[in-house]
Amino acid sequence: MRVAVTGATGRMGKTVLAVARERDLDIAFAVNRGADGEHVEGVPVQPSTEFEALLDAERPDAVVDFTGPEATVAYAGACATYGVPLVTGTTGFSEADIAALEEAGTETPVLVGANFSRGVQALLDAAESAVENLPEYDVELTETHHNGKRDAPSGTAKVLLDRVEGTRKAESDRVHGREGEAPREGDEIGVHARRAGDITGEHEVLLAGNHEALELTHRAGSRDVFAEGALDAAAWIATQPADYYRFETIASQL
Ligand code: NAD
Repeated sequence: MRVAVTGATGRMGKTVLAVARERDLDIAFAVNRGADGEHVEGVPVQPSTEFEALLDAERPDAVVDFTGPEATVAYAGACATYGVPLVTGTTGFSEADIAALEEAGTETPVLVGANFSRGVQALLDAAESAVENLPEYDVELTETHHNGKRDAPSGTAKVLLDRVEGTRKAESDRVHGREGEAPREGDEIGVHARRAGDITGEHEVLLAGNHEALELTHRAGSRDVFAEGALDAAAWIATQPADYYRFETIASQL
């Protein structure tokens, strides 16, 4: 498989290139905003303004993208033009961004994953099942990430919230942190985002009621786990028809 990597000098881009090297994958090209002759894992990183020309010239089997919403939407448009599959782990998309990615998915396979770890996929199932089995219990969600993370709450926290809310009959309110006179109400779900140091990513779902508490926690020990999942997804998507895919719906096939 020949993959192209965007955001190549970012935390995840570097990790994807390192894991791709361990797997002996061919790198078609790597780009980053404002790249100026640097190399990552021996791969020359080219300016992202060259992305479309490189896509046309190299026609990789898949593009693996961890950047920001604006860049991802632009890359998806170019991938649609040249029929190149795109896997993106970028988070923080607006509804309009998602619509643009779905539109690109009518021309080429586009796969979006807020979290490429297998453990988080299991956490999603476990949290959904726990909330279903304990419908009267209070639910609070806490996520913790490194101090460089831009969006809050994390993309993974939003997917967890969607899954948990999907089990409830009535609509839940998401309460982001609390301050002052703030008693808990009804079915609300407290959402807490902590940013500190170099923590890769932690998600905890707390259920409490009836004199007991249940905590479901996932901790990522290394960014490798996300890169591994993204490259597995890239191998999968390279043989799929054009469509808009979500990692959590295909992860069990990998
Ligand atoms: P980072 O800031 O270290 O790297 C992002 C890279 O993208 C940088 O090199 C930056 O220059 C580049 N970039 C940003 N905007 C750009 C633009 N408009 N045009 C061109 N290049 C641009 O961030 P990171 O920690 O590598 O995370 C990147 C994204 O991946 C974030 O959205 C983060 O939440 C997400 N993420 C997802 C997973 C997952 O499993 N899905 C795991 C970790 C991080």
